[in-house]
Amino acid sequence: MQCQRCGHKWYLRREELPAICPKCKSPYWGLPRNEDLEKIKSVLHEISGQEVKVNCRKARDCEFISGPWRLVYNFARQPGHVTPLFELQRGNSAKTFESLQELQGAFGHDIM
Ligand SMILES: [Zn+2]
Repeated sequence: MQCQRCGHKWYLRREELPAICPKCKSPYWGLPRNEDLEKIKSVLHEISGQEVKVNCRKARDCEFISGPWRLVYNFARQPGHVTPLFELQRGNSAKTFESLQELQGAFGHDIM
């Protein structure tokens, strides 16, 4: 795991995600940094051509809505580790990406 605020890295000993960063104690350790939020918004804007609304409901969960598209930033829980995950949804279709780079790479091709 890595804190998005202070950069501290640690290993997850339990399945549950911690409420706060063990080092800087930030409850927002898992949220994308502002610069990354802006990148995510611009990628989604390119896909839809419409304005992007951001809604970060919990400390580790953001959704981006733009026209018919919805992008959810969350964590994938796998045994032993947890990785950020981007799920792009449109209607009943959904596709997941493991990184913003992967999502950007898919853009330009027929995403869905
Ligand atoms: Zn931290």
